[in-house]
Amino acid sequence: MTNTIMNWISGAPVEATSGQQLPVYNPATGAVTGQVQLASHADVDVAVASAKAAFPAWSNLPPLRRSRVLNRFLALLNEHRDELARLITAEHGKVFTDAQGEVTRGIEIVEFACGAPQLLKTDFTDQVSTNIDNWTLRQPLGVVAGITPFNFPVMVPMWMFPVALATGNTFVLKPSPIDPSPSLFIADLLKQAGLPDGVFNVVQGDKEAVNALLEHPDVEAVSFVGSTPIANHIYETGARHGKRVQALGGAKNHLVVMPDADIDQVVDALIGAAYGSAGERCMAISVAVFVGDETAEKVMPKLIERTRALKVLNGTNLEAEMGPIVTRAALDRISGYIEQGVKEGATLLVDGRGFDGETAGEGCGDGFWLGGTLFDNATPDMRIYKEEIFGPVLACLRVKDFAEAVQLINDHEFGNGVSLYTRDGHIAREFGRRIQVGMVGINVPIPVPMAWHGFGGWKKSLFGDMHAYGEEGVRFYTRQKSIMQRWPQAIAKGAEFAMPTSN
Ligand code: NAD
Repeated sequence: MTNTIMNWISGAPVEATSGQQLPVYNPATGAVTGQVQLASHADVDVAVASAKAAFPAWSNLPPLRRSRVLNRFLALLNEHRDELARLITAEHGKVFTDAQGEVTRGIEIVEFACGAPQLLKTDFTDQVSTNIDNWTLRQPLGVVAGITPFNFPVMVPMWMFPVALATGNTFVLKPSPIDPSPSLFIADLLKQAGLPDGVFNVVQGDKEAVNALLEHPDVEAVSFVGSTPIANHIYETGARHGKRVQALGGAKNHLVVMPDADIDQVVDALIGAAYGSAGERCMAISVAVFVGDETAEKVMPKLIERTRALKVLNGTNLEAEMGPIVTRAALDRISGYIEQGVKEGATLLVDGRGFDGETAGEGCGDGFWLGGTLFDNATPDMRIYKEEIFGPVLACLRVKDFAEAVQLINDHEFGNGVSLYTRDGHIAREFGRRIQVGMVGINVPIPVPMAWHGFGGWKKSLFGDMHAYGEEGVRFYTRQKSIMQRWPQAIAKGAEFAMPTSN
């Protein structure tokens, strides 16, 4: 049975006018489960017009009342958490427990955004000069857009719209066409929570819808999360059209193992962070850096054994540790990288190619399957080291000392996440200070910042200056205004021609 996935405009599902659609798959079985309609330029215009019409009333509501709508949405999200997680597993393939975790991390941003009155509190200076006060306001921008990747169809949109709505903006979401269904589920929950029609809209599709948003004169800001080439395009095109843009891109995250690290902790960390969600996380660890050959020799046998023993199963199976790859095209791309690594001379210790989907569960024979893959002796000039593979492939490198590990990471073009395993507090502190990466874990493999800290990488992992959510998110979705005021007798003093000062 297949379903049709439409746009959501002015509080209801709406057919796209383009006449074009794309199949949506269950990656575990390879079956087509739906058709997503692709929004045309005209459909995007209607969605933006709806958001624009809703803006004056929504932005004028007291923040506490906006926050109450988000509180009701929060309750509904908690009630429907498992349904959302099941939708994620069905179209993305990640294992159910991981999908539940994704929804929970999204919920945490909604909890943060429920503090709208506090988030919008600003500064006030009494008596900057006689009878004059000066204060700042943070006001919403208007219609803002979010363009999101396939790998977190619930969490990444929730990095954006809860903060945007809490601060008084109206929103147009353009989700990935690979797993579009959660966007409509979310839109429906927002409606049930009492969000006025037009405040949150969804346009499905790909390039055409994105470019229509980027060029639209009524879209004030664009938040993007996806691959680096597209992030760059979004940043340049959005800026050229006068928009505020934050564009989060790809990654190549290293985990450095110092000689004093706890080996069993390291193995657990690498297995979970390299193969969880089939490596399709922007914070996945795709490179292990061993400081000293001896460190590598201690970890490697355990790593090989655990990679071979991974439970690669249909994500609906509660025993599953890793599910399928999201699409056949991604599977082919990742397999190509494995071939490339072998050609370049890295040592292929565990080869995930040829993994038989039949063992993943009933009906999985035609799914998009790959086992965990492990390389040793990778070097910095290899493509499997330099480029983002975005699959369950871990490349191991060896360096002679801590300084070489830091240099290696700082020379990489990406700077999203990084992790260090050590028992030495001084080394940990030095690492945190010297490393040119936006999000750092010390004995933590995937250091995704909490809702009130903000998420963002450095270098080619982020274009723009504001990180997602947290205080930076509030700043991104608001403009600062300074107001200086005096009443009334000072006004009668006559015109002033010299620069006013507090003297
Ligand atoms: P993607 O770049 O292919 O797609 C992201 C979005 O851009 C989708 O909505 C897609 O429809 C749209 N898009 C694709 N091609 C386009 C084009 N030519 N013009 C305009 N829009 C286009 O990314 P993906 O494959 O969906 O997601 C995986 C990527 O996202 C990885 O590179 C991963 O590292 C990155 N990612 C980064 C973060 C982060 O926080 N830095 C988080 C999650 C994912």
